[in-house]
Amino acid sequence: MRRAPLSNDFSWSKSRHEKFSECLRAYYLYYYRSWGGWEADAPKDVRELYVLKKLANRFSWAGSMVHECIKDVLLDWRAGRVVDPAAVEAKARKLMQDDFRHSRGKAYWTQKYRKQFTGLVEHEYGDAVPDDAWKQNWETVRSALAWFFASRWPQLAQGLKPEQWLEVDAGFDFAHFTLEGLKVFAIPDFAFVDADGMTVVVDWKTGKSREGYDEQVLGYALYVSQRYRVPLEKIRASLVYLNEGLEQDVTVDPSAMESFHKHFSQSVANMRALLKDPATNTPLDVSAFPPTDTLTSCARCVFRRPCGREAAVLQLQRPQQVA
Ligand code: SF4
Repeated sequence: MRRAPLSNDFSWSKSRHEKFSECLRAYYLYYYRSWGGWEADAPKDVRELYVLKKLANRFSWAGSMVHECIKDVLLDWRAGRVVDPAAVEAKARKLMQDDFRHSRGKAYWTQKYRKQFTGLVEHEYGDAVPDDAWKQNWETVRSALAWFFASRWPQLAQGLKPEQWLEVDAGFDFAHFTLEGLKVFAIPDFAFVDADGMTVVVDWKTGKSREGYDEQVLGYALYVSQRYRVPLEKIRASLVYLNEGLEQDVTVDPSAMESFHKHFSQSVANMRALLKDPATNTPLDVSAFPPTDTLTSCARCVFRRPCGREAAVLQLQRPQQVA
């Protein structure tokens, strides 16, 4: 039986907002022009955009590796299984070595690999990345896992009763809620009920702490509030910086929520203003989505070739490579 075609419905997420804010052209290519690129009979340019949009960079790759490992560990603990931290590290290392080989050979153009990883933008565009930088990338993963296993989290998680577990990185199909009639994706890395009866949402972070993450966890708080019918005053939100060993609580109160709502409404209005038909999520012509003037954004962008910015990025990188 032939499946009904998927429709490109409008939804909101923090990452969609970030793409929209950084470069409208990248936003258009990512959310609209690449749509359907998974189909065997997709036009060549759509297929190319689709493969490119799936690429990670080395920092997001390290981050998702840590997230995947911690997710598996938490699910093991939830099921009462014993976890060996050395085995987790060894498995992550082997997987990253396999990922690296797959990516360096650009096999993502022709082969299916694994859902969470297809390849790296650095390999696609031949970016000059010194060996030390690749080693540092592994060190980010290793040290984040080491901190996690030595932190208070293993004891906390293993001490939770079955009814205290809510979610562990439940994925797009499950973790979404409705705000002002719109589907909003918000996937907490970990959600549980603590010993005091507070619902806690956690976001693991790799790399350095920076501003702007608060809104992300406020979105998680709204999500768990809706899904589990918990009043907001009974929710705590926490950012855990695994590489810095820092934990930051984010206040979930009416004024934080008001600012989240305001920001959300403005972001949605800006996105909708670039739709020809909001009912079908049909965008305006590509010309309504101009390329950014910030070349440093292009230097991180997966679309720099189809966008015509590959040469400009090379020019930008050359002095650094010579230095
Ligand atoms: S290469 Fe630059 S201008 Fe083009 S889509 Fe990417 S960020 Fe935007």
